[in-house]
Amino acid sequence: MTQDAIGRAWDALVATARRTVTDGLVVGTSGNVSVRVGDLVLVTPSGVPYDRLTPADVIAVDLDGEQVRGSLAPTSELPMHLAIYRATDAGAVVHTHAVHATAVSTLVDELPPIHYMTGALGGPVRVAPYALYGTHELAAYMMAALTDRTACLLRNHGTVAHGDTLDRAYDRTAQLEWMCRVWLTAHMIPGRTPTLLTPAELSRATTKLQGYGQPS
Ligand code: 13P
Ligand code: ZN
Repeated sequence: MTQDAIGRAWDALVATARRTVTDGLVVGTSGNVSVRVGDLVLVTPSGVPYDRLTPADVIAVDLDGEQVRGSLAPTSELPMHLAIYRATDAGAVVHTHAVHATAVSTLVDELPPIHYMTGALGGPVRVAPYALYGTHELAAYMMAALTDRTACLLRNHGTVAHGDTLDRAYDRTAQLEWMCRVWLTAHMIPGRTPTLLTPAELSRATTKLQGYGQPS
């Protein structure tokens, strides 16, 4: 992998991490972002404000978690990020503590299909059981919740989403947070229960979303 490719990927990763803060999906140094470059995974450092990161701070690990570049310690959630790269063809992973998503993670085992964008995440988004942050136990719960999905919630913690690119992983995170907000908002009306999509409606939306937007 060329230095150039790593440098470009690092810049994109830092931009995405900064966006999680400016868009209000995390506060301070919460959350973490990674991107795959060949056999390497670039990750955000643990507990360092994203606006302080420079091109010289590149942190890369291999798929075994061995640090091969950089002196800053990698994110404490390395087990979650690496579990996804080992099991899928994901190119990027975004983890946040988005407010509405975190609130929903404490209320249900699955985000009910309140909107057709559920289909963009592979189906109703599951909530992984609670486990201590940064543990292999949490990574295992997350992987089970991600089965056939590109995003999940972590109970009393936050969101995880992956995609082929940083933009896709970020967009899925933002869509998930937005859907959690819609569900919570609809749920606040006393005496009323929100309508949900039927499995048939969701299935049609999922199929149609595969052709959404401009022809590639
Ligand atoms: P890091 O700063 O180690 O990435 O931890 C933040 C976090 O969200 C842990 O779950
Ligand atoms: Zn976290």
